[in-house]
Amino acid sequence: MQFSELGLKAEIQRAVAEQGYDTPTPIQQQAIPAVMTGRDLMATAQTGTGKTAGFTLPILHRLASGPNDRLTRVAKTPRVLVLVPTRELAIQVEESVRTYGKYLPVNSLAVFGGVGINPQIANLRRGIDILVATPGRLLDHVQQRTVDLSAIEIFVLDEADRMLDMGFIRDIRKVIALLPKARQNLMFSATFSPDIRELAGGLLHNPASVDVAPRNTAAETVTQRVIETNREQKKDLLKHLFESRGLNQVLVFARTKHGADALAKTLDKAGIKSAAIHGDKSQGARTRALSEFKDGKLVALVATDIAARGIDIDALPYVINYELPNVAEDYVHRIGRTGRAGMEGEAISLVCHDERPQLKDIEKLIKRSLERLVIEGFEPSATAAPRPVQPPRPPRKPQGQGRPQGQKTPAKGGRPQQHHTGSRHR
Ligand code: AMP
Repeated sequence: MQFSELGLKAEIQRAVAEQGYDTPTPIQQQAIPAVMTGRDLMATAQTGTGKTAGFTLPILHRLASGPNDRLTRVAKTPRVLVLVPTRELAIQVEESVRTYGKYLPVNSLAVFGGVGINPQIANLRRGIDILVATPGRLLDHVQQRTVDLSAIEIFVLDEADRMLDMGFIRDIRKVIALLPKARQNLMFSATFSPDIRELAGGLLHNPASVDVAPRNTAAETVTQRVIETNREQKKDLLKHLFESRGLNQVLVFARTKHGADALAKTLDKAGIKSAAIHGDKSQGARTRALSEFKDGKLVALVATDIAARGIDIDALPYVINYELPNVAEDYVHRIGRTGRAGMEGEAISLVCHDERPQLKDIEKLIKRSLERLVIEGFEPSATAAPRPVQPPRPPRKPQGQGRPQGQKTPAKGGRPQQHHTGSRHR
């Protein structure tokens, strides 16, 4: 199928063609016609599937196809509201609107917290057709009466699962209550949990439903591997991976803001140009780090889960989980940063002894066992685990330094856990 078969306005097709896309992704093939007819939509799709264009393109088409082609003038008050969980995503969605709407007279704006509100107010005054917003800042504008949501025709809830995880449910409900009753609603979520179902039930009317991400399956184009090691060796192992594999654009995940900062510093000292992005960084610092990373000036970007949401980089080849996330779904989001749009990607997780429960949860969620590697010199030691005093070990198998364990130990069968918890460790 070609984009030209979707019947999008010529101005939009031209912008899409300039991006070099000729074939719509599966979600685009299904979502675009549904949204063009004005129907509500429930789409289960994770980042990387092309979902943003999946709603941006038909929305632009609808705006430009009004009864009296209202796009000949910019709307006074927004006609479309896209609610997103993070500022990064807000920026990126708005960029997509600009990219695909470049041949249409559409005004768009992203509003999010952490930056001054006054420039946003000035922009809102000028008239905006498509407003992309994070919930908190949007409600600030509502309270200050600097935005009017009474003319919204299309409402998009993007990454709804993430919004709920981040505790935005009350804000979302407040926003919905401010919208006109007659409107089109589109909801996107990577997972379809009971909470999401409930939210969808109250929001959507007779929705078309599109499911391109079979629930919680990681992208097929991503090779996923686990390297087992000790916590104390992780930093050296990470440096070793950069050097031995000649990696040059890697998104590294850390669990905490502090950990992300420390890791970026360590890598930088080792000559691997790095920066950290997380919630405590100013918007300017985050945007700068992201663009330096995209431009290849930074080799590693160390991110926390929340800060990484919405990071959109074409052809990102590597994701390294320096630490596993506590929530298994976050693993799926993390590795969704690579292997996009059919490109090959690799996700490597450095796993130490006390992260095994998380690894088990992840494998349960994605319904497969991940290949294990052991790298010589970084083998997990038998005693690595938690602090408690070790009972005296039988002297049977002294742990020789760097004793060959076999470079590569692919998991066998469906019970990878047994592989390293059995006799080898006693
Ligand atoms: P998303 O899932 O919206 O975050 O998009 C994932 C990536 O795929 C983005 O970098 C898009 O630019 C890219 N993309 C979107 N649509 C297509 C398409 N039809 N063909 C190729 N790449 C696309």
